[in-house]
Amino acid sequence: AKAGGRNTLRFFDPAMQAAVNARLHLEADMRQGLERGEFSVHYQPVVDERARLVGAEVLLRWRHPVRGMVSPAEFIPLAEQSGLILPLGRFVLQQACAQLARWAQSPATAHLSLSVNVSARQFRHADFVAEVLEALREHAANPRRLTLELTESMLLGDIEDAIVRMQQLKREGIGFALDDFGTGYSSLSFLKRLPLEQIKIDQSFVRDVLEDPNDAAIVRTILALAQSMDLQVVAEGVETAGQLGFLRLHGCGGFQGYLFGRPAPLQAWDEMLFSVR
Ligand code: C2E
Ligand code: CA
Ligand code: CA
Ligand code: CA
Repeated sequence: AKAGGRNTLRFFDPAMQAAVNARLHLEADMRQGLERGEFSVHYQPVVDERARLVGAEVLLRWRHPVRGMVSPAEFIPLAEQSGLILPLGRFVLQQACAQLARWAQSPATAHLSLSVNVSARQFRHADFVAEVLEALREHAANPRRLTLELTESMLLGDIEDAIVRMQQLKREGIGFALDDFGTGYSSLSFLKRLPLEQIKIDQSFVRDVLEDPNDAAIVRTILALAQSMDLQVVAEGVETAGQLGFLRLHGCGGFQGYLFGRPAPLQAWDEMLFSVR
């Protein structure tokens, strides 16, 4: 880059300049969107082997006033880089704890649990453990109904430190799931050391599990491994009865995917909940 006037940088590549501008723009929009209440959460059902509802994954949504729905795949990485993931992550936790407290009031829903995605930056933040516990306390939500979803890659940096944090939360009753299992740098010794309750089989393995013998082998191996390590498994991206049949046949006990329900806002979910029962 070459210095133009004061506070301006002229890039030699106009396409790159445009990309940088678009990023800064989206980042500013995100900051504003947070203040204006453009963010919300959707809930996607998780069911057991008999298709009974056991809980949901909480998924962040952003309704931009001009662009409409912006995919988390697009804004989460940017929120990570800019640090906005910290207030966004707090928002998601608040929503989850408030919802757990509402569900706890009725015997029909008191058993349901929620899974919340945690980003690397959020997890490494010095106040993370305290913030999670505070959110639960504030809403008087049961920590045993909360699962935090971590990914393998975010645990790589300082594994000792990650284990300490996980144990602090686990002592309070919070559970951990390893998200997108199989897509990262999984090592089996690593898996053994983490205080996990659950692994989530990534949807990329589920998608072609009936057609692709390699995917089928991977899924069977993950299920056998989980069984021998006494870990629960949730398969993600289950869209067809065929996929479900294969997964059940090989001992999978938890399912999430369009076959059972898309991520939806609470109002729609309440209806779904009643139709399920
Ligand atoms: P993820 O944690 O792997 O979430 C599952 C994604 O799969 C969701 O995409 C969900 O809508 C989608 N999905 C569920 N069932 C099916 C299915 O049957 N077929 C297909 N094709 N897709 C299905 P979504 O909501 O777009 O989220 C994308 C990613 O953004 C998430 O992947 C997660 O990594 C991230 N994310 C979402 N919400 C949060 C959040 O609150 N905090 C953080 N840190 N990340 C989040
Ligand atoms: Ca997840
Ligand atoms: Ca996942
Ligand atoms: Ca994923």
